[in-house]
Amino acid sequence: MRAVTAILLFMSCVTAGAETAETIFINGNIYTVNDKQPFAQAIAVKGDRIIFVGANADAEQFRGDKTRIVDLAGKTVTAGFTDSHCHIFGIGEREMTLNLEGTNAREDFLAKVKERVVQTERNNWITGRGWIETFWKPPQFPTRTDLDKIAPDNPVFLTRADGHAAVVNSAALKLANIDDHTPDPFGGQILKTNGDPNGMLLDNAMDLVAKNIPKPTEAETEQAFLKGIDREIKLGWCEIQNAGSELSDQEIIRRAYAARKVKLRMINAAYGPGEAANALLKNGATLNAFDHRFTQRTIKVIFDGALGSRGAALLAPYSDKADTSGFLTQKPEELRPMFEEALRRGIQVETHAIGDRANRLILDLYEQAFKAVPPDKRPAPGGGASSGEPGVAERRPPRADDVRWRVEHAQILTERDLPRFAKLGVIASMQPSHAISDLFFAPSRLGMERLAGAYAWNSLIKSGAIICGGSDAPVERGEPMIEFYAAVTRCPLPEHGLPVGAPSGVELRSEQNSGQDVRWAHRQDAYVPPQPEGWHPEQAVSREQALRMFTSNAAYAAFEENDKGSIEVGKLADFTVLSADIMKIPAPEILKTRCEMTVIGGEIVYGDR
Ligand SMILES: [Zn+2]
Repeated sequence: MRAVTAILLFMSCVTAGAETAETIFINGNIYTVNDKQPFAQAIAVKGDRIIFVGANADAEQFRGDKTRIVDLAGKTVTAGFTDSHCHIFGIGEREMTLNLEGTNAREDFLAKVKERVVQTERNNWITGRGWIETFWKPPQFPTRTDLDKIAPDNPVFLTRADGHAAVVNSAALKLANIDDHTPDPFGGQILKTNGDPNGMLLDNAMDLVAKNIPKPTEAETEQAFLKGIDREIKLGWCEIQNAGSELSDQEIIRRAYAARKVKLRMINAAYGPGEAANALLKNGATLNAFDHRFTQRTIKVIFDGALGSRGAALLAPYSDKADTSGFLTQKPEELRPMFEEALRRGIQVETHAIGDRANRLILDLYEQAFKAVPPDKRPAPGGGASSGEPGVAERRPPRADDVRWRVEHAQILTERDLPRFAKLGVIASMQPSHAISDLFFAPSRLGMERLAGAYAWNSLIKSGAIICGGSDAPVERGEPMIEFYAAVTRCPLPEHGLPVGAPSGVELRSEQNSGQDVRWAHRQDAYVPPQPEGWHPEQAVSREQALRMFTSNAAYAAFEENDKGSIEVGKLADFTVLSADIMKIPAPEILKTRCEMTVIGGEIVYGDR
C-alpha cells in the first residue's frame, strides 16, 4: 500500500514537473482582465494555451531546455483585443479600391476621385469608399453634378463611410436607367433636387446602380479578405466578429483557413433572411474549426438604415427633416419565422438597429420569439464547447435559456427600451467610434431630448446589460486605440476638431503644449474637458470597462468566455502588446499608442519574433 502511494506521489511529481512551456513571455506589464489576478509579469504557453500567469520568478519552473524566452521589456500587454463588429471583406476592399477615408474637405474628395479618373480607361467603373461630408464646410452631400465635372466618361459609385449611402454620377444613373420617374425601392431612397435624382442613393436604392458594377473575381475577393486579415493583425486584433457574409464569402473564408493562410480568429455571421441564413439553419453551426480559429453560429439581420443618411428608423420624425422618420429595411413578419427557427436550431441572432423605432421593434421581435419557442423547445446553444484540454478551464454547460442574442449598434434608445437589454439578456454590440463621429450631426438629426438615450454606454452598463465593443470597419477606421479612446473620452479625434457649438477658447492639445494643457483628458484624470451640449460626457466609460468591451465581453458575446477574453491558465494564449500603458497614460496619448506585437495561440503573428 505504502509503495503504491509512493509511486502515485512520484508520478504526480513527475507530471507536475513535466509541464514545460514552449514559450515564456517575461517582464510584461500585463493586464489580464481576470478579476482574481488582474496583473502579472509573465505568461507561460504550451501548445496554444496558457499554462501559467504570474511573476517572472515563478515562471521559471516552467522553463525547459527548449523553452523560448520572449522579453517584453516592460511593455503593456492586454488580453487579446477582439473587434466584435466589422466587415472583413470591406476592410480589404477599402485598401484595394479608392480609399476616401480622411478626406476632410469636398475639394480633397473631388481631387482624389479626379486623380483616379485620370488613371482609369474610358467607360470603366470607378468605385471607392470612405467619404463622409460631416467634416466638410458646408457639411452637404456631394452630387452627381460634382462628379460629372471630373468624370464625364466613367461611371462612378462612391460609398459613404457608413455603407448606407453612395454618390454616383450621371453615367452611372444612366446605366441603371434611373430618372425622375424611378420610384424609391423598399427600404431605400433616390434623393432628388427639384424632382431630379441628384446622385445620392440611400440603402436599398444603392443596389439599383451597384448591380451594374462588374463583380470582383473570386481571386480579387480572396485578395481583399487576406489584405483585411493582414491589416487587422498588425493593428493588434486577435479576433474579429464578422458582421455578415453571403455563401460565396463563406467559401472563400473556409478555403483560406483550410489552406492555413489565416492566423486571425474569426466569428462569422451569415446574412439573413435569405440563402446564407437558410444554409446555416439547415446545416447548423460550425464551432472552433481550424484550430479554434473559425466559428459560425450567427445570423445577421440589417433592420434599418443609418443616422447620417436619415435612414435610421425613428419613432418620431427627424429634427432636421420633418417629412421623414427613416425606414426599416426588413419586414417584421418575414423575420418572425426565421427567429423562431434560429431558437429551435441553437443559432444566435444579431440585428443591426440604429433608430429608436428599430431598436424597440427588434426587442419586441426577440421577446416574442423567446416566448414562442421557450427554453424546453431549444437545444443548448453550442456555447462553451472547446477543442482545448478538458478540465483546464471552467466549462459551464450552456443553458437553453442563455441565447445571447445581440443588437448591433443599439444607438438610439428610449428610456422605456433601454432596460430591456438587461431584462431579456440581449447583448448591446456597440462601436465607441460611432459616437465620436456621429455626435457632430446627431444633435441636429435628433434634437437634444433624444440624445439622452443615444450611444448610452454607461446607462446600459448600469442597467446590467453587457456591451461588447467593435469598430464597424470599414464604416470607421477600425483601430483598437481609436475605439478605446472614444470609449473613455467620448471626445472627437483631434483631426476632426471640436464639436459644433464648442465654447470659444477651447483648443485641442497640440504637440508643443505641455501636458497641463490636455484639453481632452480622460475623466478619471483631474481635468474635465468642456463639453458642448449633447455629447453626454457622463456616458464615457472607465478604462477597465473599455478594456472589457474589447476582451471579456466580446468573448461572452460569442459564447467564448471559457477559451478567450482574459489571460488565464487554460485559455487560449491570445494577447496584444502595446507601446504604452493605456490604462494609465493621459487620454490623448492613447491615440499615439501602437501595437508592438500580436500573439495568437502563443504564436507571435505580428511584431519582433
Ligand atoms: Zn456593420
